[in-house]
Amino acid sequence: MVVKEIKKNGQTLYICEECGFAYEQKEWAEKCQQWCQQYQSCNLEITQHAVPPE
Ligand SMILES: [Zn+2]
Repeated sequence: MVVKEIKKNGQTLYICEECGFAYEQKEWAEKCQQWCQQYQSCNLEITQHAVPPE
């Protein structure tokens, strides 16, 4: 599982390419992307760990 990495204010964020949510932990981004690809929907248990968009 490969997720997109971006740098923001010196911090690395991991993006689920399916839904666009950003995570501080790669682990969550991978879980999110895996879920999104499989179910084509978001899992609240996972997305609650996302970084709020600005
Ligand atoms: Zn996702």
